[in-house]
Amino acid sequence: MVTIKSDREVSLMREAGQVLARVHKELEEFVKPGLTTLDIDEKCEKLIRSMGAVPSFKGYAGFPASACVSVNEEVIHGIPSNDRIIREGDIVSIDTGVIYKGWQSDAARTHAVGDVDPEILLLIERTRNSFFEGIKKAVAGGRVNDIGAAVEDYIGPFGYGIVEDYVGHGIGKEMHEDPEVPNYTCERRGVKLQKNMTLAVEPMINLGTWEVEVLSNEWTVVTLDGAPSAHYENTILVTDGAPEVLSLLPEEKKLYHVK
Ligand code: MG
Repeated sequence: MVTIKSDREVSLMREAGQVLARVHKELEEFVKPGLTTLDIDEKCEKLIRSMGAVPSFKGYAGFPASACVSVNEEVIHGIPSNDRIIREGDIVSIDTGVIYKGWQSDAARTHAVGDVDPEILLLIERTRNSFFEGIKKAVAGGRVNDIGAAVEDYIGPFGYGIVEDYVGHGIGKEMHEDPEVPNYTCERRGVKLQKNMTLAVEPMINLGTWEVEVLSNEWTVVTLDGAPSAHYENTILVTDGAPEVLSLLPEEKKLYHVK
């Protein structure tokens, strides 16, 4: 079911978004070579709880941690582990969510650790850009699948693979609500967007093939060809004009020229 939030509910989702934005900002500064992916998860959980929020991923469908920490060829759902050490040259995607005053926010960032291959740095930058291109279409009166079409229009010329097996989603009191938000062009344009709908838009872009597989741990999604993958996600609010990005800090919104 697609839920339309009241103005009061929107202001609570805005608060949840700001908590998550602060968590991500702190994690960005925290990620360093030598840490394990479990160190990152523990830091993430501590940050979330210190802000009076609850980690929404922990226990969700049995997921054992507060953050998905996915390294290099891992696309999403990396399970934090004491054995996985982050090294110079890696890229680390952190996807995490909070519940604050009963409302959800979901966001992901991919970080470059130390000196990273310029080609991979471009992948990260363009994945982020594709999110901002996509959400230009997230306007009341438009259609949800116009978002993915805009992502694909932007990404296509670079020859990257757009992950199709996993998509963005509505969000509110539940982490995953309708509608689905694909990151690619669909035959149908999907549901009509309305003011006060809230969506998690999350392009996952691979340097090589779009195809992915799930590891035997039944969580971690990796690229089929082993090439690196980047992820960028925010929770957004549909308005009559440009969407509001709920899970970015004011200075980040300024940097990316969004509301
Ligand atoms: Mg999500």
